[in-house]
Amino acid sequence: MSIQVFGQPVSRGVAIGRAVLVASSRVDVAHYFIGDDQIESEVARLREARDAVASELVALKSEVPEEAHAELVALLDVHLMLLHDEMLAEATKQWIVERRYNAEWAMSAQLEVIARQFDEMEDDYLRERKADLEQVVERLLRALGRQASGMPPAPSVARDFAGEDPLILVASDIAPADMLQFKRSVFTGFVTDVGGRTSHTAIVARSMDIPAVVGAREASQLVRQDDWLIVDGDAGVLIVNPSPIVLEEYRFRQRQLELERAKLDRLRHTPSVTLDGQPVELLANIEQPADAEAAIAAGAVGVGLFRSEFLFMGREGRLPDEAEQFAAYRWVVEAMRGMPVTIRTVDVGADKPLDRMSAHELRHEHTLNPALGLRAIRWSLAEPEMFGQQLRAILRASAYGKVRILIPMVAHLAEVVQVREALERAKQDLRQAGHAFSEVELGAMIEIPAAALIMPALVRYFDFVSIGTNDLIQYTLAIDRADESVSHLYDPWHPAVLQLIAQTIARANEAGRHVSVCGEMAGDPAFTELLLAMGLRSFSMHPSQIAAIKQRVLRADARSLSLQLPAVMATDAPQELSQTLLRSRTH
Ligand code: PEP
Ligand code: MG
Repeated sequence: MSIQVFGQPVSRGVAIGRAVLVASSRVDVAHYFIGDDQIESEVARLREARDAVASELVALKSEVPEEAHAELVALLDVHLMLLHDEMLAEATKQWIVERRYNAEWAMSAQLEVIARQFDEMEDDYLRERKADLEQVVERLLRALGRQASGMPPAPSVARDFAGEDPLILVASDIAPADMLQFKRSVFTGFVTDVGGRTSHTAIVARSMDIPAVVGAREASQLVRQDDWLIVDGDAGVLIVNPSPIVLEEYRFRQRQLELERAKLDRLRHTPSVTLDGQPVELLANIEQPADAEAAIAAGAVGVGLFRSEFLFMGREGRLPDEAEQFAAYRWVVEAMRGMPVTIRTVDVGADKPLDRMSAHELRHEHTLNPALGLRAIRWSLAEPEMFGQQLRAILRASAYGKVRILIPMVAHLAEVVQVREALERAKQDLRQAGHAFSEVELGAMIEIPAAALIMPALVRYFDFVSIGTNDLIQYTLAIDRADESVSHLYDPWHPAVLQLIAQTIARANEAGRHVSVCGEMAGDPAFTELLLAMGLRSFSMHPSQIAAIKQRVLRADARSLSLQLPAVMATDAPQELSQTLLRSRTH
């Protein structure tokens, strides 16, 4: 039976494919296809892992005296039985043979199938055996991991899907760092139960430019392994097991979207200028150095936001040192061939925790409200050694191109003074060590209402500002951006949000400071005219959004748009007025 589930739209377009359910705790399992010639060896890996786990369990059993630990021995017997159960052994093999999944993926896919069956059992005793099954699979995955060392890593490029059913990943939750590993993966769509439209998981999904829906609440419970799914990334809808008519309708939309995309692609090399001749800078947001390639390909004229924290995440507590960071920043700077690269200092905390094992993370766990806690620049200033390393690494990269430093979550002038001091110390260290660096501009992210309100002071301390609308909305409206239960109140059109953005742009322009928007609003065509009307001439967004925004810029008359701004700002319903008034000023 076909079911519809509503969530938050994240990424445009339509994906149609088979569900791959992944337990949230197992998203770090490698997912890749094997070649036809590898089937035998992959099945052998599985068998070896099973033999190894069987020996482990038998050895364990022999170590515990049965008379003293009868319960434990019985439990080990259950584990041994589960290990050899057809449902696990044979069915896992089928995922490898029929679908060409690697062994780890096959194992976690089958675990999801059996876990569902356990969940549905009436008998309490049997239902509780699910935990035992999970432990057995955990052992098997560990055994596979031990074999995997020394083997070539999983292919990082998406394989050609010809003849293969496209796959859609469904999970209850995916951490931003885990999401990152799915970039260039086998999946053509994503669905998660939790998350808001601008949660960092959603942002990474959007940067992958594939249809995604987050905050779909019970999706991972409703969907079964291998179900056919449609992910409507525009409407935020997931359709499970669609009827043939619905499927045909969506296939038609998919083809139309492809045609539209191909048309937009032609704008790639067209300069971004309004009808009345105003140049508008379109920059890229990136999460990883390799994303610089997508930025260049999309025609970005620089990087407006490099979210450097992704270099710090998912590393089991070991942070990247100065040399490693320098290599990453230099790579991006060189890839951008003289175009500006804005590197934001590390912004961990809130919904971007560091790895579970790190001391810093532990501290975050004890924070009552991480979005209001030791996040972003607050954390950097609390960790002077780490901050110094990052500043030195960024400064050293400036010897290879145009680099700007962007400070996240600025709220206090005292923080500015501390940042300036840290920057001076970093320069001093580099001079002493004989490392070259160039002049770098220092910028503030305006993402806390307090910062927007003290713009006249901030412009005296900073060379440029960049408006982080994702957090500005969160902190203005007191809505956790990652919480789907309040996502209907996360409203970029709220007059208070619009006023703060308009004021920030106006104050920066008056002071002659470069101002950009790097939050998700910059890449949303619904806001392009409004932001142009406010005087914005620099937008930073996911590379995949650049062409659509450019199309709007090319059709806009910036001067006449600005004349409409007072009316839009004065109304109680800015969204409606903006759509009628401002759109009438475009051609
Ligand atoms: C923002 O807050 O708008 C922003 C660009 O930063 P991030 O989304 O990484 O918090
Ligand atoms: Mg932010």
